[in-house]
Amino acid sequence: MSYFINEESIKTEKPEKKRENEVDIKYFHCALCGLHEKFEYFGVDPPFVKKYKLLEDTYLVEDPFLPPKQGEMLQLGAHCTKCKKCVCKDPSCSFYYEGTYCIICAKENMKMFPDVVKDKLNKIMIN
Ligand SMILES: [Zn+2]
Ligand SMILES: [Zn+2]
Repeated sequence: MSYFINEESIKTEKPEKKRENEVDIKYFHCALCGLHEKFEYFGVDPPFVKKYKLLEDTYLVEDPFLPPKQGEMLQLGAHCTKCKKCVCKDPSCSFYYEGTYCIICAKENMKMFPDVVKDKLNKIMIN
């Protein structure tokens, strides 16, 4: 008897109530500019993005300017390949060349980059 009652109460109570309270809020924090923003996904293969695959572990958030559930995501940032610091996609924080570099590592490792890339880097000023 009690067996049947238990099973029913599990089915009716759990699913809906959990959603609201259990939203796991995680924050992305840029080590350089201090940008502090909620993110929804960290990794290379977000389940909701079907159009493309990411090349590296990236912090993503759903694009706030588009209707939800369209698979359009904004890239918040990633980890620097060299120092592993978390940096945002702002051009004065990170630089992308075969991976994300924080702007400090990018400047320190200028010699590794081809000339075109060096030129670009030279135009970026560190605050
Ligand atoms: Zn930043
Ligand atoms: Zn770095």
